[in-house]
Amino acid sequence: MVSFIGAGPGDPELLTIKGKKIIDSADVIIYAGSLVNPQVLADAKEGAVIYNSATMNLDEVIQVMKDAEERKLKVARVHTGDPAIYGAHREQMDRLDELGIEYEVIPGVSSFLATAAVLKKEYTLPGVSQTVILTRMEGRTPMPPKEKLLDLAKHNATMIIFLSIGMLEEMSAVLRQAYQPETPVAVVYKATWEDQKIVYGDLTNIAGRVKDAGIKKTALTVVGNFLGDEYELSKLYDKTFTTEFRKGVTE
Ligand code: SAH
Repeated sequence: MVSFIGAGPGDPELLTIKGKKIIDSADVIIYAGSLVNPQVLADAKEGAVIYNSATMNLDEVIQVMKDAEERKLKVARVHTGDPAIYGAHREQMDRLDELGIEYEVIPGVSSFLATAAVLKKEYTLPGVSQTVILTRMEGRTPMPPKEKLLDLAKHNATMIIFLSIGMLEEMSAVLRQAYQPETPVAVVYKATWEDQKIVYGDLTNIAGRVKDAGIKKTALTVVGNFLGDEYELSKLYDKTFTTEFRKGVTE
């Protein structure tokens, strides 16, 4: 059995209880060493064999899983955040299907949710945005033609950009064509890690500030007026609003 586990954004206490139990009892652990906090593996059982997938290709990862399965060993495949977001676990699951190897997926706290937490912000403010777009800039992985950053930006929704901090200058130039230039932006480096950094700005100055802070990787860029202070109160907790669970008062 192979368990794909979302290790969370960094802080080892943000690993799920279920994920931790599997990691701590696994015979073989394959973790994404470039981003997973090694402390997540601190209680691995003695004798567990640990592989860092940063130096392995897909065939090598699958081979380790296959060998373990033949010996009836339990494998924990540990991905950063939640594996469903830029985790590249689909191609592994498909190979396991071909090999007839059983697997499960344990979700994790994605870095985009940890980012909202450390910023102490809500992505979906009434009257501001009710939509969250998770995307990236085109790198070696091409963007599908209908998902160009400019097209996505035209919605002026809350936008979260992964994997692209090295292209912040270019990114903010594109975003300025669709959002007001003074739209607030935050860049969060290593959310929930001990060396976490937060840089605030707007679409005109964020690239320079992030450069000055020396941030070059492992950061998310979040854009939108949800970072501001103007919004409407929710209907959910509006005292005049009747919900399934609560009768509203008339004023
Ligand atoms: N599956 C992961 C994302 C993997 S892609 C998740 O759910 O979070 C890797 C990118 O995620 C990084 O380039 C960076 O943009 C972002 N990232 C991962 N961990 C982060 C963290 N702790 N703080 C900020 N960004 C992070």
